[in-house]
Amino acid sequence: MSYPPADDRLRHLIAQQVNCDVDTWKLAFWIANGIVKCPEIRAEFRRIEAAHAAGQPCGDRNCDTCFAAQFATPTQENPA
Ligand SMILES: [Zn+2]
Repeated sequence: MSYPPADDRLRHLIAQQVNCDVDTWKLAFWIANGIVKCPEIRAEFRRIEAAHAAGQPCGDRNCDTCFAAQFATPTQENPA
């Protein structure tokens, strides 16, 4: 069985990150649980991914995808 589990990967990834800053894994997992179940956060993930899929910047200042795109070399198929 792989870790994190495929059907609960997002929650485990968030908990791993939060765990660096809190005292217990239980607390990290509790915080991660609230994040993955938050409709506003899930909607924002969908909005960001839809923008990227359409080739548009998502507008989030923390977005690594858009940051990397600023430095991508334009090609003939995809001129700047
Ligand atoms: Zn983006």
